[in-house]
Amino acid sequence: MPFSDVLGHERIVDILLRSLRTGKTAHAYIFEGPSGCGRRKTALALVQALFCGAGTNDACGVCPSCRKVAAGNHADIHLVNPLPDKRDISISQLRDVQRDLAMRPYEAPRAACIIEPADRMNTSSANSFLKTLEEPPGNAIIILITENADMLLPTIRSRCQLLRFAPLSPEQIRLLLERDGMDSATASLLAPLSDGSMQRALELDNDSLAQRRDLLLRRLEQLSLERVVTIFESSEELSGSRDETLENLDMLLSFSRDMVHLAAGCSDITNRTIRPTLERLSCRLDLPGALRLADSILDTRRSIQRNANAKLALDHLFMNIAAALAA
Ligand SMILES: [Zn+2]
Repeated sequence: MPFSDVLGHERIVDILLRSLRTGKTAHAYIFEGPSGCGRRKTALALVQALFCGAGTNDACGVCPSCRKVAAGNHADIHLVNPLPDKRDISISQLRDVQRDLAMRPYEAPRAACIIEPADRMNTSSANSFLKTLEEPPGNAIIILITENADMLLPTIRSRCQLLRFAPLSPEQIRLLLERDGMDSATASLLAPLSDGSMQRALELDNDSLAQRRDLLLRRLEQLSLERVVTIFESSEELSGSRDETLENLDMLLSFSRDMVHLAAGCSDITNRTIRPTLERLSCRLDLPGALRLADSILDTRRSIQRNANAKLALDHLFMNIAAALAA
């Protein structure tokens, strides 16, 4: 996939395209960023561009080389991951790849090696790789993918160009999910909960999440200070395991952001599929009220993360929400 298919990360793509144009790509990179944000895709886009037979700076996407990279079967790309059931990337895996890199590439102008997650090289395997990293044989390009470059040895870091990837925005995640064929209702539900990670978005259980969203919305609409039972029932129903509770709060937070937008007279919201409900709720709030609501959801989230009693914290939160909506 050409760089134009990489969503977000414009600054990084710019840096890489510029270095391709001037023929000054580094021989070793560290791509650091949250998992699922597009580090591997960008690494493959870079390799595809370097290998492409069309002779432009970006990949053409259609030549035999580009097609092989896209299909994941290009013989000159060496991927190194921990073996199944193993935590670390072993010295012998790295020896194998060093031997492969030392051989003449099959068809590409140079070989490429992608190590992921690079922080799984333990001290001795990382040390065994230092010389290769400093002077990759046959002008090979090496890309280390990690969530945190600080987990790599300083001697590794100093031999690579570090590029930092930011998490994707909910809007970018939504676009990517839809591009991968997900219906827009599900994509809009998952995107705000994904922490900027496609992987996380796909891991979230769609069906149960949609059910919980609907339950949450129903509860929100029913909350009333005059019928305190609505408050206790809501917190009873929505305090599951700690992770579930945090997911519910994330959902609530993303609704409340939309309500802040609506209360401020801005119609651009993330959770478009539930716009009518959010509009009904935001009619009951003014802007300061909507902002206070978002704040108290954040506070609740923090205290539950610090192991506060979830049920009590939610009681308190739903009481605040009921008061805000009644005002
Ligand atoms: Zn090509």
